Amino acid sequence: MEANTQIIDLQSLASGDILQLKTYHFQGKNGTKKAYIQANLHGAEIVGNAVIYELIEFFSNLNIEQIEGEIILVPMCNPVGANQRNLFFSTGRYSPYDGLNWNRIFWDYIHESPDLDTFVKFNINLSKEEIYHNYLTNIINNFSHKIKEINNSRSLPFSEHLRNVLQSLSLNANYVIDIHSSSVSAIDYIYSFDRRQKSTDYFLLEYAILMNKYDGNAFDEAFLNPWLVLEKKLNHEGRNITFDVEAWTLELGSGMRVKEESVKKGVRGIINYLTYKNILKLELIKPQNKTKFVLKNNLKHYYAPQGGIIRNRLQAGAKIQQGDTLYQLLTFEKKERKPTIIDIQSADQGIIYDVSTNDTVNQGEYILGIFPHV
Ligand SMILES: [Zn+2]
Repeated sequence: MEANTQIIDLQSLASGDILQLKTYHFQGKNGTKKAYIQANLHGAEIVGNAVIYELIEFFSNLNIEQIEGEIILVPMCNPVGANQRNLFFSTGRYSPYDGLNWNRIFWDYIHESPDLDTFVKFNINLSKEEIYHNYLTNIINNFSHKIKEINNSRSLPFSEHLRNVLQSLSLNANYVIDIHSSSVSAIDYIYSFDRRQKSTDYFLLEYAILMNKYDGNAFDEAFLNPWLVLEKKLNHEGRNITFDVEAWTLELGSGMRVKEESVKKGVRGIINYLTYKNILKLELIKPQNKTKFVLKNNLKHYYAPQGGIIRNRLQAGAKIQQGDTLYQLLTFEKKERKPTIIDIQSADQGIIYDVSTNDTVNQGEYILGIFPHV
């Protein structure tokens, strides 16, 4: 089946040109569920565009009975970030206008302080489907006021406009998948949320970071948090409900690179997840191994104790024991008779999941991260 496409004017430029988004919609014959997939929110994180290309090819070869509901794909979802450069290097992690991290700009219904106690009081005895419908209506109504602000004479900062466009496409989805890469060099992994761990295995990735601490206003958090908060409140009143909504951030490979292995893993995982969720009518791959979870606040980050040049650094994916040498730091301290080399040992046992790409560091710069005890 062919995708329906839509072009959205995103930003009109001083030169008279227009930055646009192109969205690809696959609508099955039956079903009401919706999956939303975007890539390249951070400028250097380009792998997801290749994943979306492969998914468009794959879905185009399915027949209309093999898709139930709707799948929306948005490659290059932030053209401002994707086009940003310093020399030949893609930067694109922060908005040049206000310094905001492009993945901390999103709108979370809970931050509007909705009166959830009253909502729960009036909805507690309704069916799960009715509660879902009523709550989603509240979210969408509240958000529609935000969208209208672009039409008044004060208009909006660009980051709020981008947020509005991307969330207008996704707020009523059941499943959102935001494809990122490490901005440095990393293994492939996924972010997972409390109460949604079970689905994680179907992405067929070895590792997941479990979000037990929110940065706030990230795309996945802003989508899922309102539902998690409602589930908690309902649970407190004796209704144990898990709504059919999930949010995922895939971290595939490294910045400024398209590692084909990461593309393959991403495509395979997303197809299998959508099959597990019955949006695709295909054969499900039962996960052979369970995904290993690491709590977000247990991640171990290593920073340069002093400036210098990094040598013999271990690579992402390396298994390490406490006391292993992670890297050497060649320093040029002026008071020493000659340049010296310092061995930096690991304080943790685990696996290195990402490493910075620049081998020259000032004190306090990021060197690498470890998933401990996996
Ligand atoms: Zn990112």
